[in-house]
Amino acid sequence: MDTARASLLEKKVEILGELAGLEELPGDRGEISFGKRVGEGTAMAVDRLSQVAVHDKLQVTLADIDRALAKLDEGTYGTCDVCGEPIPEGRLEALPWATRCVKDAARH
Ligand SMILES: [Zn+2]
Repeated sequence: MDTARASLLEKKVEILGELAGLEELPGDRGEISFGKRVGEGTAMAVDRLSQVAVHDKLQVTLADIDRALAKLDEGTYGTCDVCGEPIPEGRLEALPWATRCVKDAARH
């Protein structure tokens, strides 16, 4: 399971880097101007909205990674948090931070 821990930590560092990058964007400092051309300001506002969505998604993944790391410590890594069934290896390979089986993940 050391491989799983390494890839989780690697992914965590990557996400923290992306989050830091998003937070440095000028939109956070209230520099969006709607004054010049209407289209320009609107496009920037839309960009900002999609950045917020990306930010939220990264936060969710980060929480999953932390949960998966905790499961490694508990010795329950690779089993579903909801039903306790083993998570298929293919799913863990594609999504090392998966903490629920496909069936239970789909319910959320
Ligand atoms: Zn399950």
